[in-house]
Amino acid sequence: MGRRRKKYKKIVKRVRKIPSIFQCPHCGRISLTVEINKERTKAIIQCGSCGLQSELEIAPIFQPVDVYGKFIDMYHSGVAEVKFVKSEEAEET
Ligand SMILES: [Zn+2]
Repeated sequence: MGRRRKKYKKIVKRVRKIPSIFQCPHCGRISLTVEINKERTKAIIQCGSCGLQSELEIAPIFQPVDVYGKFIDMYHSGVAEVKFVKSEEAEET
C-alpha cells in the first residue's frame, strides 16, 4: 500500500495587480500611475516624472484605464484638480 508522497504543486502566488501606467497629459511621459482606494470610490493619479497629481471620484466598477480616460477628459476640459508634487528626495547632487 503506502501512499505516495503528495505530489507537490508549485504554488505561484501572483498578486493580481495589473500595472497601470499611462501617458501623462502634462509631460507626455509614460509615467502616470492610477491608484484606486480600497473603497473604490476614489482614484489618485500621479505622474512620476513631472509630479502631477490629481484625485478623482470614481464608480466602483472603474478600472484604472477608465480612471485614466476620465482624467484625460477632465484635464482637457480644465476641470481636473491638478497639483504638482515635487519629490523632496530628488537624486540630485
Ligand atoms: Zn507628467
